[in-house]
This record gives sequence, structure tokens and C-alpha cells, in this order.
Amino acid sequence: MKIFGFIKQLRWRSLTGVILALVATCLVGCGGAQVSGPATYTNEQLAQIEILAPRATELRVLFPELEEFIQNKDWVNISSFIHGPLGELRVRLNRLAMRLSPPDTKQAKYYAEEVAKHLEKLDAAAGAYNQVEAGNQYRQALDDLDAFIALIPGQTA
Ligand code: ZN
Repeated sequence: MKIFGFIKQLRWRSLTGVILALVATCLVGCGGAQVSGPATYTNEQLAQIEILAPRATELRVLFPELEEFIQNKDWVNISSFIHGPLGELRVRLNRLAMRLSPPDTKQAKYYAEEVAKHLEKLDAAAGAYNQVEAGNQYRQALDDLDAFIALIPGQTA
């Protein structure tokens, strides 16, 4: 009985080993070859990013308010919100983008310009009382802003 149990355990172990090997092979083989490693930062760089990041991400928190204005066709508030509370968004994003690793800086600057572009179009849509276009630009601005935030080390969109 004891020996039988031992053999069973051995078999189980080798089976587990095979499964682990398969999983490992898949991770290596199927793993995204296009996925580049995370950007590396010095502690000093991270500290600077840590100071600047909240100034940008705190504006992300305000976005649902903008969505509410669009839903309520509150055209005046859409415009004053874009130029008021969100007025500094572009500058803050660009300032933060400059602190990222060079390839991420390029990406982040692109997204910062995209966010600004969509907000300008949203402003224009509000001026034209066009709710569909306003909603469309709002979603694109949010997507680009989340893509920007995903580039910041230690942040998840
Ligand atoms: Zn865009």
C-alpha cells in the first residue's frame, strides 16, 4: 500500500512536471514577441514622475462630469468645463510626457495632442448643439487619455 501510494505520487509529480513544462513552453513560444520590456527609470526620475502624475491623473477623475453635461445637452457647461477645469490638461500631460523614457515620451506626446484635439472638437460640437458628435469626441478623448495614463510607470488606466 505504502509503495503503491508512493508510485502514485511519483506519477502525479511527473504529470505536474509535464504540465508545467507545457505552460512554460507556451509562455515562451506564444508570448508576445512584440511586447517590449517595461521602460526602466532611475529612482530620481520616478520621484519626478510621482510628483507630476497626480496633476494629470486628477483631471481624468473629472471626465464623468463632462459626460453628464453631454447627456443633459448642457452645452454652456461643456464649453466652460473644457476651458476651465480641463484647461490645463494639455500642458500638464506634455509636462509629464517629457519625464518619460524617450520612446514613451513620443507616444505620450502623441496622446496628449490627441486628447487636446478631441476636446477642441467636443467644444465645437457643443457649440453646434451636436450631441452625437460631442459623445463621439468625448469617448475618443477618454480613450487617448487612458492610453496616456497607461504609459506612466505605476499607473493603470
Ligand atoms: Zn484620438
